[in-house]
Amino acid sequence: MNSAGSIEVAAACDVLAIAAHRDDVEQTCGGTLLRMASRGLRTAILDLTRGEAGTRGTAGDREREANEAARILGVGWRDALDLPDGAIENTLENRIKIVRVLRRLRPRVVILPYWQARHPDHSIVAALGYEACFLSGLARVEADAAPHRPFKIVYASLYADVRPSFVVDITAFIEQRHAALMAYRSQYTNQAAGSGLFVPEEEIRERTFAEARHYGLLAGVKYGEPFIQKEVGLVDDLTLIPVLSI
Ligand SMILES: [Zn+2]
Repeated sequence: MNSAGSIEVAAACDVLAIAAHRDDVEQTCGGTLLRMASRGLRTAILDLTRGEAGTRGTAGDREREANEAARILGVGWRDALDLPDGAIENTLENRIKIVRVLRRLRPRVVILPYWQARHPDHSIVAALGYEACFLSGLARVEADAAPHRPFKIVYASLYADVRPSFVVDITAFIEQRHAALMAYRSQYTNQAAGSGLFVPEEEIRERTFAEARHYGLLAGVKYGEPFIQKEVGLVDDLTLIPVLSI
């Protein structure tokens, strides 16, 4: 009970990653989710589509693969909404679907895709997710569930060519992150379907490790994942700010 007399709802997760497509999180912030889980934080993933428009594999294949990837990433909860793959829209109905999840899981931190992206679904989810986080804090919206607004929203910017606000050191988790991505066997194992469109399996490892190495180098570690935050950082002790200047 808090001072107002209402029952505190136990948080079901500390960090929730919201993504347009199954396998987005594995590419943009899987190492970060692994690192947070290793610190004892409860992590969760909400995919907004089920992958029915993909060139390879069925939505059923992707569900099985997403569950396997979630197990490898050590997340405590993963689910998918039913928004149309390739045609996600920022509507009130879709915002409310996300509000219901936010109020159930009550995350302190939400990870969203960066707002500028080649794939329109990714940029729309940045706005859709942000607005859902805002609405979730309003008592008059869906009044049957207690309001909850995340404390922090960060944007996973790996797909975008922008300078990150900060990098998470995923060096200890790079192999596990790769295993989570390769759990999507219907997408990434070599096959005839979509062979002109998809990167060969051998090259996926090289590309994803090279990207992680690039962001790691910016922060003085081996492998890293980049994030943007809109607000400024706050420093307590100048002598403890990480990342070497010269
Ligand atoms: Zn995607």
